Amino acid sequence: MLSEQRHKGRLFVLAGPSGVGKGTLRTRALADVENLTYSISCTTRKPRNGERDGVDYHFVTREEFEEKIAGGLFLEHAVVHGDRYGTLREDIVRELESGRDALLEIDVQGAQQIRSLLPESVLIFILPPSLEVLEERLRRRRTESEEKIDLRLEDAKKEMERAKEYDHVVLNDVLERASEELRRIILHYRKQSRENQ
Ligand code: ADP
Ligand code: 5GP
Repeated sequence: MLSEQRHKGRLFVLAGPSGVGKGTLRTRALADVENLTYSISCTTRKPRNGERDGVDYHFVTREEFEEKIAGGLFLEHAVVHGDRYGTLREDIVRELESGRDALLEIDVQGAQQIRSLLPESVLIFILPPSLEVLEERLRRRRTESEEKIDLRLEDAKKEMERAKEYDHVVLNDVLERASEELRRIILHYRKQSRENQ
């Protein structure tokens, strides 16, 4: 079991509406911060063009996903925009127990589950400058159908109401600025952990 006393690394959770730039900021954080690992989630969503199994996600069927739930393999899981997504428990336990910090990019329901399970986790909400900019980014990415874009924008409004529950809110306006802010947040907690040792 994952217990607060035993593990040594810290979990950083990025959440926020679809298209806000979580994936972009995550890639930058992994490049900018040493010893930070990313946990690849499982999903029942179909791969987008260019996405690779085992790299972007573990793409699984609904049956496979349900088997993993039954086997207790997920640390958290949720239905997001009509598909299922989950974080594999084993991956996180291994990383945290070996002293590495890990980054999760999950939805608001998953973030809430992590908050209850591991209260020392750092929850970071990524906000867009406006709903109009969010829509523009989602459309420009050209990965979703019109119907999926509408669903994601509708969900965005509900998700954004929860930003105040987070430890940090990062506005993703200018990418350079936002990724520097994220880097500083992570390094701040690293420093705090060192000082408390
Ligand atoms: P998410 O992972 O939150 O769904 P992405 O990281 O895929 O979002 O970003 C959505 C789109 O917005 C991508 O095309 C990305 O290049 C672009 N993007 C991300 N951050 C910014 C930014 N600060 N300014 C402009 N475009 C951005
Ligand atoms: P996308 O389909 O755009 O890759 O992701 C859709 C949403 O699912 C995003 O908010 C993303 O953060 C979230 N998500 C991705 N992986 C997980 C996961 O393992 N658990 C949960 N709860 N949400 C996830």
